[in-house]
Amino acid sequence: MERKKEIEIASPTGFCFGVKRAIESLEQRIEECSGLPDGGRVYSIGMPIHNPQEVERLSKKGLKVVDRIEDIPPGSHAFVRAHGAPPSQKEGLVARCGADNVTDATCPFVKNAQDKAAFLSKEGYSVLVLGDPGHPEIQAIVGCAGGDVMVASSLREVESIGKRDRLGVISQTTQKGEFLGAAASILAPQARELRVFNTICGATTQRQEAVRRITSRVDGLIVVGGRNSANTAKLVEIARSQDCDVLWIEHAGELSADWFARRSKIGIAAGASTPDWLIEEVKHAIETSQVSRGMDGYDGRNDE
Ligand code: SF4
Repeated sequence: MERKKEIEIASPTGFCFGVKRAIESLEQRIEECSGLPDGGRVYSIGMPIHNPQEVERLSKKGLKVVDRIEDIPPGSHAFVRAHGAPPSQKEGLVARCGADNVTDATCPFVKNAQDKAAFLSKEGYSVLVLGDPGHPEIQAIVGCAGGDVMVASSLREVESIGKRDRLGVISQTTQKGEFLGAAASILAPQARELRVFNTICGATTQRQEAVRRITSRVDGLIVVGGRNSANTAKLVEIARSQDCDVLWIEHAGELSADWFARRSKIGIAAGASTPDWLIEEVKHAIETSQVSRGMDGYDGRNDE
């Protein structure tokens, strides 16, 4: 008979403060709208969080994800996600839906990065944002900066910034502190005046540290989180850099019996946009051996 697996859940892990707050306010708004003629629809431009299973659950309650402001019926209820939105998009939502119908759930840490970007720009600095240019959080921060704003996602791109008179630097909230530190060292000799704001969120760092700690105590780590979640990808990257064998899955249905066969102690970690119920489902599936045999779980190597 197969020995029972020992399971350790990283701490902290899963929903961060900003995402939890955003989902609670979204559910509250859906609830408030439930008696309305349109059946309580609340519109979000883009996924409200980077977790498809949670988005599906919310969609059944009344969330409607759309691509553009024009897809929202005028006068409807709209939701600004934790990642925030560029000022032009927020103004467009208010114009289409009315100020009282827009729930702004921008995370306070993201709002801080947006405010710092706007401040630097207003003070006449060129603004460099460290992060993924395709990420909605960065697009919102760039929108808040306006003017002379650049984005760099690697040290090579930071090096190519060249000489600047006054340069202000902020970071995507999910970046690693090492990247911000190395970028500041590169930029210091290149700018006459350099101003750096550390806008990395504590929740991200704490979840990354939890992964660093747990990898030495387990035979393998399951990371639960959306494949479009940047902070989940970072957890996978950190665990792999410590030679930990990682299985990246979105839900319990992707667990693989083959992966489990040679392990006795398994760690579970989750991205900041992974709800508790998905983590619990994974734990329950391992404990009750509801794991598909012969199916290869997603290992994240082909993503991004
Ligand atoms: S990771 Fe940090 S900045 Fe991003 S939503 Fe969560 S608490 Fe806010």
